Amino acid sequence: MTTEHPLRIATLSVHACPLAPLGSWETGGMNVYIREVSRQLSALGVEVDVFTRQQGEHVDMVVPLAEHARVIHVPAGPPRYLLKDRVVAHLPEFICNMRDFVQNDNPRYDIVHSHYWLSGRVAGYFKSAWQVPMVAMFHTLAELKNQVSASDDESESELRMGIERMTVATADRVIASTATDRSHLETYYQAERSRVTILPCGVDLDLFGPGDREAARRALGLQSERLILFVGRIQQLKGIDVLLRATSILAHRRDVPPFRVLIVGGRPSGERNDPETRELLRLQRLVTELDIERYVGWVGAVEQVGLPEYYRAADVTVVPSTYESFGLVALESMACGTPVVAAHVGGLLATIQEGENGFLIPDRDPEHYAHRIADLLEPSELRARFSLSARDRANQFGWKRVASQLLSLYEDLAIAQRRGERPAVVWQK
Ligand code: UDP
Repeated sequence: MTTEHPLRIATLSVHACPLAPLGSWETGGMNVYIREVSRQLSALGVEVDVFTRQQGEHVDMVVPLAEHARVIHVPAGPPRYLLKDRVVAHLPEFICNMRDFVQNDNPRYDIVHSHYWLSGRVAGYFKSAWQVPMVAMFHTLAELKNQVSASDDESESELRMGIERMTVATADRVIASTATDRSHLETYYQAERSRVTILPCGVDLDLFGPGDREAARRALGLQSERLILFVGRIQQLKGIDVLLRATSILAHRRDVPPFRVLIVGGRPSGERNDPETRELLRLQRLVTELDIERYVGWVGAVEQVGLPEYYRAADVTVVPSTYESFGLVALESMACGTPVVAAHVGGLLATIQEGENGFLIPDRDPEHYAHRIADLLEPSELRARFSLSARDRANQFGWKRVASQLLSLYEDLAIAQRRGERPAVVWQK
């Protein structure tokens, strides 16, 4: 694309900082997506500024993320972590402070790209203030979450749904990570198909790949016992209770080798009003009720660089979510050659191929999970085949590829804008 300056993107991620430690109540796949895509776009020569709410007292306002990418911490409300529903009250302040920063710093953005509903609200303002195209991505949708949420801590507000609708109506292009995601956007948010682009999420293939399995097992202190792994945020919609019930079934089966279940994730504050602490306590009570304490290890959150060791040591990774818009953990495990037993929901259908590189469980029956986990616990021809095919599959989802597809989308929108055209519509079957 011939331009007078490199393409410049204002990425809005109000509540998810790409530099935040992962694995807590609200830091997961979206933080990873923004971090990795910004790095890759920077490598392609694109200038990226990620605007996020300042969540600590002593953070620099501007922090480099890559050669051409920066994180801008925008003051809005108290400089500490707030649950996302409390962030909404500070959006006007966020907009004013972001506008002041941009006026002083004086970059001219070609595109504003929002992640999640909170950012959608802010992006709508800047789309019209700067007269630039807007791209929106939601990562999760309130309508879908509410269909499966089992607790008040996880149910989503009317306000969020309203802002999601407004964002869909305002954005020039909405990115869906899978065909299922797109059909949800059409069904529940009346998104026009011509303005929705399917662009999958990715996996860091330099970090996640096959490695020395025995060394990984030794590093985790495993002896001959098999390893069943869960990685993710400690939220009810991740379905950890189904895995615990499956563990109890496996514990009673005589044909199953000795095994251990490790649960990676969670940074609970320990305070009574912390939803993550409440969820963890609920799960730990279930472990006691099921009398499976000796099988289950609570690891807590692990920095992403430490995760390949867990995936490589594992015989199987279990992803029993009730809703998963994409599901990076499944892909990371597959990239390391460890097959996945997962719920037949959302984005997991786009990566795992039933009976070829993993198992997709159509219901929430722990018996079905136990049955498929047991199939993969011992070394076998099936496991070796799944492992190879899982790696091949994951190799198709590198972040580099995701970023170059995103760059094409940005370029189309920017070119149309410069020509004064409405952004070209795309048709995807
Ligand atoms: N993750 C991590 N450390 C942890 C738990 C999770 O680094 O202790 C990362 C994990 O590697 C993955 C992301 O958090 O990249 C979770 O993404 P996923 O799409 O599976 O779930 P989400 O958080 O988006 O619901």
